[in-house]
Amino acid sequence: LRSFMPNPLAGGASVSERVLEEARGLDRRLKSLTAAERRTRFPLAGVCLAVKDNICVKGWKATAGSMSLSDYVPPQDATVVEALKRKGCLVVGKTLCDEFGMGSTTESSASQGDGRAHAQGQEPWSTRNPWDVLRVPGGSSGGSAAAVSARQCTVALGTDTGGSVRQPASFCGVVGLKPTYGRVSRFGIIAYASSLDVPGCMGPTVSDCAAMLDHIAGQDPLDASSAATPLPPSLPAGYLHQATEGGEGARPLEGLRVGVVAQTMQEDGRLDDRVLGVMNDSLDKLRELGCVVEMVDVPTFDLGLPAYYITAASEASSNLSRYDGLRYPNKGGDSSQSKALDASLMEAISGNRGHLLGDEPLRRILMGTYTLSEGYGDALYKKAQVVRKKVQGDMLAQLGKHDVLLTPTAPTPAYRADDKSLLDPLQMYLGDVMTVNVNLAGFPAISVPAGLVDDQDGGGKLPVGVQFIGGPFEEAKILRVAHFFE
Ligand code: GLN
Repeated sequence: LRSFMPNPLAGGASVSERVLEEARGLDRRLKSLTAAERRTRFPLAGVCLAVKDNICVKGWKATAGSMSLSDYVPPQDATVVEALKRKGCLVVGKTLCDEFGMGSTTESSASQGDGRAHAQGQEPWSTRNPWDVLRVPGGSSGGSAAAVSARQCTVALGTDTGGSVRQPASFCGVVGLKPTYGRVSRFGIIAYASSLDVPGCMGPTVSDCAAMLDHIAGQDPLDASSAATPLPPSLPAGYLHQATEGGEGARPLEGLRVGVVAQTMQEDGRLDDRVLGVMNDSLDKLRELGCVVEMVDVPTFDLGLPAYYITAASEASSNLSRYDGLRYPNKGGDSSQSKALDASLMEAISGNRGHLLGDEPLRRILMGTYTLSEGYGDALYKKAQVVRKKVQGDMLAQLGKHDVLLTPTAPTPAYRADDKSLLDPLQMYLGDVMTVNVNLAGFPAISVPAGLVDDQDGGGKLPVGVQFIGGPFEEAKILRVAHFFE
């Protein structure tokens, strides 16, 4: 499946030796504790954690799928990684992602260990979907989703800037949680678009994601945008307790108001019929659980996509300026340093950018530089920010009248890897229409597997997920609905 990065450890050390070493260390600490101490201090003891390659783990390479970072080994853990390790998680690998998180298929990863495959025109080392290896796992956290789906790890960390946790979760039949912007620290996450990026949780069930969130949530002095808003006390425990109420035929969500975003259910050729079928079955299921299901109008829903791509590209053009081939270690072929001596510095840098960054980051840098440039900033970037506020306002208005909103997570099941239409970037961007608004608004959302559909060519089945969206900091609410629904 190629879920994991090859040769992820500094100095070519062996992953299995490293994991065993960590496990033995944990074992020694556990042995010195009483059973009660173990439960409170190491509630996640031995949980195997896969980490998307744009998230820093001390001593493991963090390439973010880019050749420009092919030899970068971060000196410390991202706050989210540190938090999970402290509770007993064992990091078992770094997972493939689209370069800097830019993409929806995990195919734009310039990986193959040293990132040269792309430049040499070889078939890229990209992750495939465990349900059908002719299909992509989605992206950009596709490696994490495939690893969870194929049980190559227990849980995984991803990042979600415009859907990169939720869409691959839907394509691979796992649960993907994108917390509220600010709920979880971004320290140690390789930045794509700073006002949209959020670390997210991926696991086989909703309670796995809830348990992860419980340990990664919270204010971090190393991330000024992280928020102090407390999580409802011991969310997983309390919520699991509620989950055991009822039993067969019970209506545990009695009276809960679900608003189905009408704009996402239109038969306009954009939404795959099979996904529409899964949505209709999901509405029946929610009614059986006791929910009041209503169609709601979010008139600006379709405006989110252009506003997102303008915002994300603008921020990326600024964030990616540091990848000049000189600041971070990379296997760029010619030594960047000596190049800088022969040619002028600007020439060296532009040469480096040209060959160290893939097509997608280059496209975003060009787009973002354009949308921020004098004369276009007002017409494009500033207008996108106005739309962003409108989208947020429209969704918030509906969340005042409903407990959660519901949409498909993606308009289609997993794409085939040989689908030529995805070579057109605009076609690929269109697939993000269901998820990007949530990032523009900063709200929490979760993708939950909702059904299996025919794959239409091989007689196999493909998973389809639906997305529950909550108001700011209302993770507990969406987790609860998602849990009873799954
Ligand atoms: N596919 C979207 C993009 O390329 C979302 C990516 C993400 O969430 N990291 O921007």
